[in-house]
Amino acid sequence: MKSSPFNEQVDLIIVGAGMVGLCLAAALRLQGLKILIVEREESAPFISLGYDCRVSAIVAANIEMFQAIGVWERLQTVASPIHTMRIWDNQHAGGIRFDAEEIKKTALGYLIENSKMQEAMKLTLLQDVNIELYYPAVIQSWQRNNGKLQVRFEDGRVVETPLLVGADGANSWVRSNAEIHLYEHDMHQKGIVANIRTQLPHQNSAYQRFLPTGPLAFLPMINGMISIVWSAQTEEADRLMQLDDIGFIESLNLAMGPVLGRVTEVGQRAAFPLKTRLAAHMIRPNIALIGDAAHTIHPLAGLGVNLGLRDAMILGREILDAIRFKEDYGSSEILSRLIAQRVPDILTVMASMEGLNHIYTSQLPGMPLLRGLGMRMVGNSGIIKQMLMQHSTGLSLPVPKQLEA
Ligand SMILES: Cc1cc2nc3c(=O)[nH]c(=O)nc-3n(C[C@H](O)[C@H](O)[C@H](O)COP(=O)(O)OP(=O)(O)OC[C@H]3O[C@@H](n4cnc5c(N)ncnc54)[C@H](O)[C@@H]3O)c2cc1C
Repeated sequence: MKSSPFNEQVDLIIVGAGMVGLCLAAALRLQGLKILIVEREESAPFISLGYDCRVSAIVAANIEMFQAIGVWERLQTVASPIHTMRIWDNQHAGGIRFDAEEIKKTALGYLIENSKMQEAMKLTLLQDVNIELYYPAVIQSWQRNNGKLQVRFEDGRVVETPLLVGADGANSWVRSNAEIHLYEHDMHQKGIVANIRTQLPHQNSAYQRFLPTGPLAFLPMINGMISIVWSAQTEEADRLMQLDDIGFIESLNLAMGPVLGRVTEVGQRAAFPLKTRLAAHMIRPNIALIGDAAHTIHPLAGLGVNLGLRDAMILGREILDAIRFKEDYGSSEILSRLIAQRVPDILTVMASMEGLNHIYTSQLPGMPLLRGLGMRMVGNSGIIKQMLMQHSTGLSLPVPKQLEA
């Protein structure tokens, strides 16, 4: 690519206007930074009984971040608090109940439709004239020049930046163009999502049952709706997807039991292949990967986007700190601070999800008994339970500096 004196300069290019990319821009808004958010296509919500069935359980610590960056006020009316969570397995051999009151919080987290989160973040970004959502746009190539990256778009636009952030999801183009290797583990499972109605009200409780084929969760939405995430081995998931609504409802009732009475209605279903992925490097000079572009995990604890949101907040903080101290935030030295702060958290959560999925789907002799014992121990031990709850709500993780009092 030939460099041109007329190249546009921006402080940051974010590739991908998903929840994570938009969150990074929101964390940096009103700081006077010129930011270009590049999005390839408009992602339409996948509607099931009138609501997006792509939802996320956002943990308490990330709700506090949303409050700090000014996004929460647009989300309060569409977020459903999760006050309690009940987890049990197929054998009824033990169960555990988490209650927000036990950690002195009003909610363990909030269930929010993904499209509503994106919409709220986009509206928040409108307040900053320095932030441009460049859509539809596709990068053709980039080239490093004098410590910066020159980025050429398919429409001929050329933009120079110290840092390009790949927030372009699990099949990240940025990751492959930067020649970053991807470690991938196919779980041979699919996650089926849909919205349902049940005979009894959910009362803001989440339910998760571990079946031999994988976990099934009922998650409380606004207006009494319930979102399901049913992870099952691929063959079983394909069979469930092929059932008509009556057959699917019957299977759901059998699988979940009568916790909320019977399931009375199910909307459109969608299924996603489940893979654990980890980029071999989160950074290169002038490049950082965040969110699903850097890592994906099993959805059983609903932590995937939560990890990505933390990547965004911490990268945002490091960029602002570097600017304050007149450092080059596109350099490997500064970007490696992102790795130092994020990798331990990502690897811990990733290993826990792999382990839990294995423990709960294993049919080895004696495993159901051990699971039951384990759950009873956790349920009876106030300290272990508190630690687990602090961890799953993100409250045990270090607070990003910009949120510290
Ligand atoms: C069944 C299921 C249930 C889940 N439930 C939860 C949950 O309860 N809680 C939770 O925390 N997580 C959950 N997750 C995980 C969560 O959905 C993801 O972690 C999250 O969507 C990742 O967000 P992202 O912004 O990193 O990527 P994405 O949402 O994939 O966004 C990437 C964006 O980049 C754009 N893009 C891609 N390529 C390009 C390109 N070349 N140029 C420009 N733009 C591009 C895309 O169009 C998209 O808008 C679940 C996942 C699954 C499969």
